[in-house]
Amino acid sequence: MAHIVITSGPTRQYLDPVRYLTNASSGKMGASLAQAALDLGHRVTIVTGPVSVEYPQAAKIVHVTTTEEMLEATKLEFTQADGLIGAAAPCDYMPKQVETSKLQKTGNGLTLNLLETPDIVACMAANKLPKQWVVAFALETEDVRFRAIVKLSRKSCDMIVSNRADAMNSDENNVEVISRGGKVLDQFHGPKPLVAQGILRLIDKHLIATQG
Ligand code: C5P
Repeated sequence: MAHIVITSGPTRQYLDPVRYLTNASSGKMGASLAQAALDLGHRVTIVTGPVSVEYPQAAKIVHVTTTEEMLEATKLEFTQADGLIGAAAPCDYMPKQVETSKLQKTGNGLTLNLLETPDIVACMAANKLPKQWVVAFALETEDVRFRAIVKLSRKSCDMIVSNRADAMNSDENNVEVISRGGKVLDQFHGPKPLVAQGILRLIDKHLIATQG
């Protein structure tokens, strides 16, 4: 039995009290991964941004809004965990300045000055203990496998799940699971719960069974 932290859903970066930048993520893949992990007897903590999806009741749920909050909550939960699955779509940009009052329209449009937010899985992989593991997702529109392998290496993850933009908000997914060495371990397509079961079987075989 392992303790697995799953990041899930989008995050929000507010421009002012009513407007925010976000990502088109539903949290459905995170919910399916959590259920698949629980079904294999693992303990699950989900760190989630704002979603309407229902998570399994047996999982511990930590609610966050921004990418920085997701990073802080994940850091905390990961200290007690064996592995992390980064299924969230954290907002990659945040406004340099957040207005405390609602921005008023001027008729001249609005130019945003954005900073990059921290990368949660890269940060966790860089600071993990040797016995801990990190699995990332990579969602791309072009050169899907190549870009996934580049991300796997850049973020120093142990495995990456590559999927396409049509996975967003869908009940189905079509993925390739790639090992640290760049080998395609398997492909799964169909309803997200079935795809999640395939991914968890590979995590069990390649990352959990080899622990300790
Ligand atoms: O956005 P990107 O394609 O780089 O996301 C790839 C992986 O990195 C995903 O697992 C995602 O959850 C993770 N990620 C993250 N923090 C970010 C951006 C992405 O953990 N700020």
